[in-house]
Amino acid sequence: MPNILITGAGLSGTVIARHLAEKDYNLTVIDEKDHTAGHCRSYRDEKTNVMVHQYGPHIFHTDIKEVWDYVNQYAQFMPYTNRVKAHTEFGTFSLPVNLLTLSQRFGREFSPREAYDFVQSKADKSITDPKNFEEKGLSLMGEELYHTFFSGYTLKQWGRDPKELPASVLSRLPFRFNYDDNYFTHPYQGMPKEGYSTLIENILDHPNIKVKLNTVFTKEMAAQYDHVFYSGQLDRYFDFELGRLEYRTLDFEKFYPGKEETLNGDYQGGAVVNYCSPKIPYTRITEHKHFAPWEEHEGTVCYKEFSRNCEPTDIPYYPVRLSGKNDLLDKYVAEAEKLTGITFVGRLGLYRYFDMDKTIDAALKTARQFEKTFKAGENCSMPFAEL
Ligand code: UDP
Repeated sequence: MPNILITGAGLSGTVIARHLAEKDYNLTVIDEKDHTAGHCRSYRDEKTNVMVHQYGPHIFHTDIKEVWDYVNQYAQFMPYTNRVKAHTEFGTFSLPVNLLTLSQRFGREFSPREAYDFVQSKADKSITDPKNFEEKGLSLMGEELYHTFFSGYTLKQWGRDPKELPASVLSRLPFRFNYDDNYFTHPYQGMPKEGYSTLIENILDHPNIKVKLNTVFTKEMAAQYDHVFYSGQLDRYFDFELGRLEYRTLDFEKFYPGKEETLNGDYQGGAVVNYCSPKIPYTRITEHKHFAPWEEHEGTVCYKEFSRNCEPTDIPYYPVRLSGKNDLLDKYVAEAEKLTGITFVGRLGLYRYFDMDKTIDAALKTARQFEKTFKAGENCSMPFAEL
């Protein structure tokens, strides 16, 4: 049986491990953290028993049926629809921008047709081919909406002028002319009943998979295996020899609202409230109990989320992909392409802003391509899968 090393017990590594385990490979999954599940780790808060997402809110949503079937094989998913509210300088609104948001923001009634025509009259028509986040925003919705909901939040979230960010970041959010306030447009959405960590543990539960926590990857270790899947930071693999790629990290400020601040244990009335004003230092407050409306908890636990530049000792969360070329990334990719015996995967390995569903989809594709490419006793050349 070929021996494969998987670096990182997050979604990518776990899904690849399981796929190959089923095909009679021997898998060792290592992680330098003391837990599996990577950044989708969930656990029960010791004080309230609420299931919390340690690294920030994760809502599973996808339009890929295969991925939805995949996760449902390993965990029971409960129906969950993400409905986010936006706290702004003009009041609190429904997100994504929809008919209710427009009516409230502009203080008047709109039919869908009227709202569409109104927004068209606000949109900057001089921008025909939006090249960045700001141009996309202004060409889609005009100044007032863009500045109420997007420019301040984006500056806080990315620490960059929105002109430097790609238009694709804004395209993650729908913009609607009806009352649909579902944050996502995907047909499948839900929450694992017993949390993401249980989902991951179930995926890893196979006799051909061995998990070693608190274990740091080294190149000497890699030499003992027939192939390595590496889900750590691409630049870290090369010891940052060409420089550091830019990431954002998050700080979470946990707080337990007192009884007098809640109504029957409810602090903010929903799971996620975004704070769009640049004057408020955090980007959002998450009250995790609302992610599990089928559970009952007397207490509640909330997290304020702050985004900042990722320094060498911080945990990298978001790769900062700016619009235009990234020479440093290109150089690392070129270095990686020279390697055999290793495949880079996941948000950090590929330096991509992947959601959970895209991560699983990419991991399954990677594992399948590997099966076709790998021949026992030969050096396998597949630094990146074709995704
Ligand atoms: N965004 C914003 N205001 C909001 C919510 C999102 O400006 O209230 C922008 C921001 O730039 C963010 C992007 O839209 O990074 C994508 O939002 P999403 O909710 O997908 O971010 P994530 O949950 O991945 O951090």
